[in-house]
Amino acid sequence: MNECVFCKINRGDVSSNKVYEDDNFFAFLDINPVNLGHVLVVPKNHYENIYSAPDEILCGLGPIVKKIAIVVKKGVNADGINIIMNNDSAAGQIVHHAHFHIIPRFADDGFRHWIGKPYPNKEESAKIAEKIKDSF
Ligand code: 5GP
Ligand code: ZN
Repeated sequence: MNECVFCKINRGDVSSNKVYEDDNFFAFLDINPVNLGHVLVVPKNHYENIYSAPDEILCGLGPIVKKIAIVVKKGVNADGINIIMNNDSAAGQIVHHAHFHIIPRFADDGFRHWIGKPYPNKEESAKIAEKIKDSF
């Protein structure tokens, strides 16, 4: 028996406020929204994360994430939208069934961006870029 909560929502074993469904994907209100109207977009098949989701599923997700972003923004009259995907526990993934967060944002909602810090020097940034390129 699959214990994944998003698989249970897909099967109807756990109730949800669905806002979209097609053959491969569905979208529903997050039970614990960052702002009201926070929606999760989920492939119906169980893939743990972006690494294991097939390319064709990710290609299919793009236009749907866009469509849901547009209707969430309109539906709750948001000023902006954050689209977030957490992959792995270290990145904050709690439900290990790949999904995108569509988070409506309001000019006065008080949330801030993550704090970035510059590279200490050009050598360090070049080294990091090389490490990433070497990993293809
Ligand atoms: P993650 O941290 O894995 O990217 O996000 C998982 C999200 O799923 C969380 O924002 C959480 O509130 C939401 N969530 C977890 N369980 C349920 C549930 O049973 N129903 C709904 N609608 N959302 C859930
Ligand atoms: Zn699942």
